[in-house]
Amino acid sequence: MAHLQPGATIGILGGGQLGRMLAMAAARLGLKTHVYAPESASPAFDVAAAHTVGAFDDADALAEFAECVDVATYEFENVPAGSVAVLAQLCPVRPGPAALEASQDRLAEKEFLAALGVETAAYLSVEDAGALIRAVGKLGRPAILKTRRLGYDGKGQIAIREGSDLAASFRSLGGAPAILESVVPFVKEISIIAARALDGGFAAYDATENVHVNHILSRSRAPAAVDSACAAAAVAATRKIADALEYVGVIGVEMFVVEEGRRKQGIVVNEIAPRVHNSGHWTLDGAVCSQFEQHIRAIAGWPLGSTKRHGAMVTMHNLLGDEVNTFAELLAEPGACVHLYGKTPARPGRKMGHVTRIFAKYED
Ligand code: AMP
Repeated sequence: MAHLQPGATIGILGGGQLGRMLAMAAARLGLKTHVYAPESASPAFDVAAAHTVGAFDDADALAEFAECVDVATYEFENVPAGSVAVLAQLCPVRPGPAALEASQDRLAEKEFLAALGVETAAYLSVEDAGALIRAVGKLGRPAILKTRRLGYDGKGQIAIREGSDLAASFRSLGGAPAILESVVPFVKEISIIAARALDGGFAAYDATENVHVNHILSRSRAPAAVDSACAAAAVAATRKIADALEYVGVIGVEMFVVEEGRRKQGIVVNEIAPRVHNSGHWTLDGAVCSQFEQHIRAIAGWPLGSTKRHGAMVTMHNLLGDEVNTFAELLAEPGACVHLYGKTPARPGRKMGHVTRIFAKYED
């Protein structure tokens, strides 16, 4: 069925906080969710109508899951493409397999972006230590070596500096196929969170400015302090990407802002996330329709909601590891919107919750 009716069931692959917040948004719209995840203590299970504990490569369990849902989606991009292909034969999967293919492999992602004329860091494919030596010869140092697959939050990457031992660097990533990227001299990192509907309609939120600490998102604010041409170029690149993938759902595109000569800002795309994105969490309290509701609307075949921002500025802080222990103080703070994911234990760097704040004035 292309368009869901209230009471229909959305299947979500992955049971983390993104799945949890998707399930909560679906419930608000009268839709049920069935979450499929390998870990029995998945935060999304607490808020879904049904759940299945199963491995992502268990074709029988996935087929049973498909029987129970009207449409399936995923909350992270490392679901094996083969499993999504199994599902896609049994029920609509939104966004479709093209989005996964383009985002699971950093080389395929860069080639896809290059074919669209979207700027990325200079890159070269690295299959072995010899290829790394040649690639460093061409791109120079510093550079970043990233595994092609299964990297996130800075995992699976290593900086190549003056004096780095190249063979040891390659080995440290397990000898997996990789790419070498030149270091982009960015002045800011931003992301565009946008949605594409089943009928091709498109809606983007304000560009979001992001600060990473130890490669993990620490805080975001919207709108990003970038010039309007830069923000427009970022949205245009996102739309081009979503259209090329015939995308349905919310997409997050991470970008670097670079200064091109006097005052002019340009964008360089770092990564595509075919899902709701951490840097879009501010929309939960700071926009008319949150990214989670927007994703549910899009995959249900429903009209997209308004992306209008509340206030002059909205900020989002991730509560990482034991930062979550400040929850009582945050709850006591007027205007702080506290979101806790119900995860234990609070390991260092683990995303345990976040807090958003809406400001009447923009402050730099
Ligand atoms: P990634 O895992 O690709 O999202 O990278 C995580 C973070 O590492 C980014 O948000 C940047 O802060 C930094 N980074 C990754 N690639 C580059 C690059 N080519 N140039 C400069 N910084 C980068």
